[in-house]
Amino acid sequence: MRRTELASVMQNWKMAGAAAALCATGAAAGAPQVAARMDLPVQTLDRTPITSPVDHPFRGTIALEVDARDVAHRVFVVRERVPVQRAGAMTLLYPHWEAASHGPSLTVTELAGLTVSANGKPIAWRRDAIEPHAFHLEVPENTKTIDVSFQIIADEDRLSADVVAVAWQHLLLYPAGWYARNIAVAPSVMLPTGLSAFSSLDVADPEEGKLSFRPVSLERLLDAPVLAGRHAARVPLAQDGAGAVTLDLVATKAGDLAVPPERIADLRRMVTQARAVFGPPPFGRYEVLARMSDDGSSGGTEHRASAEIGMASSYFRDWAGQLNNRDIVAHEFVHAWNGLYRVPADLWAPTPNVPQSGSLLWMYEGQTEFWARVLAARAGLRSREETLDKLALDAAEVVNRPGRAWRSLSDDVNYPSFMLRQSVPWRDWQRRKDYYLEGVMLWLDIDALLREQSHGRRGVDDFAQDFFAGASAEHPVRTYTFDDVCAALQRVAPFDWPSFINRWIEGHGEMDPSEGLKRHGWRLTYDAEPTLTFQQNEQELGGADLSYSIGLTVADNGKVRAVNWAGPAFRAGMAPGDHITAVTGAPYTRGALQDAVRNSPANPIALTWQHDGSPVTRTIDYRGGLRYPHLTRVPGHRDGLTALLAAR
Ligand SMILES: [Zn+2]
Repeated sequence: MRRTELASVMQNWKMAGAAAALCATGAAAGAPQVAARMDLPVQTLDRTPITSPVDHPFRGTIALEVDARDVAHRVFVVRERVPVQRAGAMTLLYPHWEAASHGPSLTVTELAGLTVSANGKPIAWRRDAIEPHAFHLEVPENTKTIDVSFQIIADEDRLSADVVAVAWQHLLLYPAGWYARNIAVAPSVMLPTGLSAFSSLDVADPEEGKLSFRPVSLERLLDAPVLAGRHAARVPLAQDGAGAVTLDLVATKAGDLAVPPERIADLRRMVTQARAVFGPPPFGRYEVLARMSDDGSSGGTEHRASAEIGMASSYFRDWAGQLNNRDIVAHEFVHAWNGLYRVPADLWAPTPNVPQSGSLLWMYEGQTEFWARVLAARAGLRSREETLDKLALDAAEVVNRPGRAWRSLSDDVNYPSFMLRQSVPWRDWQRRKDYYLEGVMLWLDIDALLREQSHGRRGVDDFAQDFFAGASAEHPVRTYTFDDVCAALQRVAPFDWPSFINRWIEGHGEMDPSEGLKRHGWRLTYDAEPTLTFQQNEQELGGADLSYSIGLTVADNGKVRAVNWAGPAFRAGMAPGDHITAVTGAPYTRGALQDAVRNSPANPIALTWQHDGSPVTRTIDYRGGLRYPHLTRVPGHRDGLTALLAAR
């Protein structure tokens, strides 16, 4: 919705005025001849045009100063001095689209206290009538620079006495009319005393209390966050001529910073294995900005020369308990090549206020997640068996996706443009971000097919060496299209790749997404024993995952988290948010429910739950016992998976 509106608004800017544009659109669409009827309403919008970005030089450098010292109020104070290119109308933009979310995830709601002045005299600003991220002003004659100041209302996550996360896309305004790569910015940040700061930006001037960085383009700045912390450590992962890689740890407690040598060795092997796949890196030095906390969050954000990683404070200490999260650093590291150096042409945008489209997210995220699984295995972050268990979990989620019947993967990739921050209670039917795990299955299939077609001589490693070749720290972004992906596959092994990939991404219920596993000599099976990986996944969910038996996921207090669309619990009338209170008459516990499912071949499962405050008691129409996913060898078939997972 947002994207369509923005697109049509941008179209209108190119015309003389909004009213004229609307008339023209109506006439072009063959609207009835109603213009002469004076009693019908006509929309009029009094709008100042917002100049579209143009790839031309911007004179001078924006000085951007972020003061992060007001931790008491969690407010960033921002001051900018912007060189004026010409007097008259000027528009300042607050970023809206965020590269890593692929959607309009930034909000100008955070911005307050905006003032603009020149030579000490205030300049009035006016927010655009339709695009709230745009501020119009009139620059007087003979003005060389304007001064802009405002506050950004942050939260504890970004600004506290011990940890400061400087994400520049939240912290600046920039002039409309130029590509972000043409605008030079000299950024600086003032931090609370005693904090160590890490970033892929080069420090120009380490003054007392202020960290000034060398000027960079706005494009680069938006991709170069700063992480600062009171308890911090630096761990080198690679220091050879191919570009240094460093793990920068920021923790809430100093004791969390100790990383066992085996874990450092694991990460070093991961870096080596990644370089063996992708070749020369697209960065000069790379910073893994790892933030350890007890809030239970785990995840990452990709950049070309750094990654923001959130991990449990026990991440390295409790390695045995991290089976599901061991490849988070690998995933973001792969993005340096897949996503930042090579960017889908429709996902690349000249500024953070131009809408993007994610038609190739099955490549951008899907192949990255595939490589995260593979590199974790090759580096020893997961054993071969642990990797097979993780792939079983991935495959089970992908295979059991009823939503594919109405929504293809090529529609799921539209997720960021309309589903960000929205509630998705029927996840397996509505679908959300399935391009990660379907991408894992798709690229397993492509690897197996490349091997088949080349009589075992070539695979997806050869694709990566071709597709990501030529990287260097200085090399500009290389955009690509669907056809470029197919052409690179064609160079590895001739085949009808467009049809093959289209069958995957456009397909509905007719295809088996585990076919790549089968081509590799493995198939998805179920038995009554969950793998350790599955059990840890359940722990992270905080309850029981019975998706592959009675079709629900339930928290330990009985609250139903998810119900499989058209599954046994669904058919009994259960919905997410219901509260299970009793299992065959006894009070609800996880164990009681699991026992009931285990015994279902002999005894029917009777559940009582609360729905909108009323009790419901039903028998679940299911007699299949407990079912958990595993990978099992296909007898007599060559094991391609073990070959793929072996270290290079
Ligand atoms: Zn990713």
